Amino acid sequence: MRLVFKFGGTSLGDGERIRNACNIVRSYRERGDNIVVVCSAMGDTTDILLELMDSAVRGERGRLEDGLERLRSAHIEAVEYVLRGDGLKSEALKVIEERLSDLTHILSSIYFLREVTPRTRDLVLSFGERLSTWIFTCALRGLGIAAKYLEGGDAGIITDSDFGYATPLMEETLNNIKNTILPLLGQGVVPVVTGFIGRTRDGAITTLGRGGSDFTATLLGSGIKADEVVLWSDVDGLLTADPRIVRGVKVIPQLSYEEALEMAVFGAKGLHPRAIEAAQNGGVKVRIKNTFNPSAPGTLITDRGLSTDSVVKGVLLVRDVAMITVRGATAVGKPGSAARILQSISSRGINVMMISQSVSESSISLIVRRESADAALEAIRDSNPPSLIRGVECEKDVVVVAVVGEGMKGTPGVASRVFGAVARRGINVRMIAQGSSELNISFVVKEADGVEAVRAIHEDYGLG
Ligand code: ADP
Ligand code: ASP
Ligand code: MG
Repeated sequence: MRLVFKFGGTSLGDGERIRNACNIVRSYRERGDNIVVVCSAMGDTTDILLELMDSAVRGERGRLEDGLERLRSAHIEAVEYVLRGDGLKSEALKVIEERLSDLTHILSSIYFLREVTPRTRDLVLSFGERLSTWIFTCALRGLGIAAKYLEGGDAGIITDSDFGYATPLMEETLNNIKNTILPLLGQGVVPVVTGFIGRTRDGAITTLGRGGSDFTATLLGSGIKADEVVLWSDVDGLLTADPRIVRGVKVIPQLSYEEALEMAVFGAKGLHPRAIEAAQNGGVKVRIKNTFNPSAPGTLITDRGLSTDSVVKGVLLVRDVAMITVRGATAVGKPGSAARILQSISSRGINVMMISQSVSESSISLIVRRESADAALEAIRDSNPPSLIRGVECEKDVVVVAVVGEGMKGTPGVASRVFGAVARRGINVRMIAQGSSELNISFVVKEADGVEAVRAIHEDYGLG
């Protein structure tokens, strides 16, 4: 089989984990499979790089140096572990040292300028994947496996220049991938590709958005028409709810692309919406598996779910959101006012996650990421004269609960059962929205009630 394996940061946390991931690659190869590897950055390297840029901009020299030292020792220790006593070690370390020195120079420029542009930010972020992927490549070679290091751009991922959330130029990218990756597989080489990053036509490194290594993996999978893309993580598959807030969660054995997309959009960690989209367009199956329990079957994402399953498959809690309520905006005789409000927000590049309109109270409620709430508020106030809207309020202490499942389509009474379960726990629902796909019901509650609401639905539907 032709497989793409993406290893997440948790699966590459240190040398031992990298070795473990390499052994998984080796065992599949021994079965006769062709493997393409995609690596995320080690552990929380991406978060550390973001902090380093913040420290540099703020002129915090001490924190900058400490953070760099932490990154340095984590990567060097990993090399020391995976290439113990191996002749490859000095070459591996030389490249790591060069990279770290480049990174130090870039961060010190940011420190002196007290400024970082989106383009430089992406360059800095790319070091996480460029370091981990190099270590992985060397570790495979240490096991006697022919492996070739490729950056996203080398593999053919060409993007626009929307730094921080770049979009691949699809036709060109898929074509390039086919032409670069297939010949390597033909020679028995394992291509090891940096996740998360691409390149513009004029050679600048771009990133695909947080969690973007999944996207890299499904792009590669579509390009080479892989039999399966496996996203290796630290859980046995996609779970019915976040294991950190609900006890007794279960692995969802199979999901349709649409269901997976809903879960990803609502922030199920370990899944990137654009990754699912690319897989669906390319007709490539995706499986989520656990590097620490590789024999478990995991979750399969394909063109259909399992009809025998519960109507509700997963319950998600989306934190870090805010609810903006505009009163008097949709009064009779003012057609198009909702559209104008949305327009004013989106023109500032802010994404509206949910919208619900009440006719009787002539108000409209919107959910945006909490970090964009103030900007959204300002946008609404700036572009709508007070004569047109009666008031704008923003509540930041709310969360969204999203209930996902294909079986909800055409099953009467799902909403009443969901809200019944929540009401019995005395939780007040602030806003409701149902997507036209009927694959999810999402609603807003006070932040303090969020976890309880998720547990109520999880229990009522017997998902555990
Ligand atoms: P990776 O490093 O492999 O990309 P992520 O950190 O992106 O992994 O996501 C995996 C984590 O997401 C898991 O460790 C798990 O705790 C958390 N998680 C939250 N909700 C879910 C869910 N519904 N299903 C699976 N994992 C979830
Ligand atoms: N390292 C990147 C991130 O943390 C991409 C990824 O892990 O998928 O967002
Ligand atoms: Mg991830």
